Amino acid sequence: MFRLCDAFGPARIIHIHRATAGLKAIVVIDNTACGTAIGGVRMAPDVSAEECRRLARAMTWKNAAACLPHGGGKSVIFGDPRMPANEKERVVRAFADAIRDIADYIPGPDMGTNELCMGWVKDEIGRAVGLPSAIGGIPLDEIGATGFGLAACVDVARSFVDLELKGARVVVQGFGAVGKHAARCLAEKGAVLVGASDSRGTLVDQGGLDVAALIALKDGGRPLREHPKGERLDVDAVLDVPCDIWIPAARPDVVRADNVHRLQTRLMPQGANIPCTPDAEAALHARGIVVVPDFIANAGGVICAATEFRGGTQRTAFDDIDERIRTNTRLVLQEAHRTGELPRAAALALAQDRVRMATSTRRWR
Ligand code: NAD
Repeated sequence: MFRLCDAFGPARIIHIHRATAGLKAIVVIDNTACGTAIGGVRMAPDVSAEECRRLARAMTWKNAAACLPHGGGKSVIFGDPRMPANEKERVVRAFADAIRDIADYIPGPDMGTNELCMGWVKDEIGRAVGLPSAIGGIPLDEIGATGFGLAACVDVARSFVDLELKGARVVVQGFGAVGKHAARCLAEKGAVLVGASDSRGTLVDQGGLDVAALIALKDGGRPLREHPKGERLDVDAVLDVPCDIWIPAARPDVVRADNVHRLQTRLMPQGANIPCTPDAEAALHARGIVVVPDFIANAGGVICAATEFRGGTQRTAFDDIDERIRTNTRLVLQEAHRTGELPRAAALALAQDRVRMATSTRRWR
């Protein structure tokens, strides 16, 4: 496991096996220089220590960049998230019990787990974020914390490409919790949604799509292609829609060397985690398309979770998201502009500086 280590971490990689509960899990505490690690619990059949370490490191950078008093961590539970509810509760409670003494790790929801799971964890060990609102949680996906943060990011980044928000054409890939709220918040600022996609297809209307109607459709569990207006195209066609702002909010690695030339946009605030391969991101930069990297642009969710952990309200969460994402977007894009380097390199340097600074305050370095 030491092959996974470098100068920043991980501090610990913990393997958990509770045969009687059917639990196999891994917890990675990457770096706690900035404070107790916050990171999601992912449940999937094919997770690994490597994946967990990579996700934990991403949380170290995201939390440090957002100046949260939290380090980075992550955990994975081996299992099918669609297992029967009583079985899932047993596994998640067993996981919670197993991490009871890993006091420098605060779990949150991720793929395959949700607020209810975090409610079980909190019930077992007294700490978790992303809780149901009935027990003090701020429902971050419902209120659109990450989408709101993306819109704040766009509002700053637009001046780096000389773009007015009023009338700006927006395309969203992945009209889920992140994508639909980003579309809504940008529409409220005068932008026009001209394309949107989900896992079943792409909907395009250069005259403007009705964001509220699309949200109502998705909230009713229906695919975008059931919307009566606009042109219906296949899933992949979302890449070809001409726009000013193209927001990836679905899966990793959707923009690659083989398809990056199809994007016709000026700005890409990254809602999804690692939506571009490194070579695709470099190609966008070379074309003058401004990319705001994931761990800067999509930090709204974890900022909201950290606010919840401190007992803050929805309003303070939104204020925090707005302030932190605007500041970081400006810092990162100004530095990238000054040096000519990729915004991701500037963002990484910013996060690493903060972790090094925090480390210098610690007794055991
Ligand atoms: P979600 O499940 O609510 O929505 C995902 C959407 O993407 C769905 O509408 C789905 O139909 C669509 N989709 C799936 N495959 C697609 C494809 N190939 N093409 C087009 N659309 C596709 O998930 P979410 O919470 O909105 O998260 C989206 C992404 O953002 C993920 O990568 C997630 O890790 C990342 N993220 C989420 C948050 C958050 O607060 N929820 C925070 C940071 C990052």
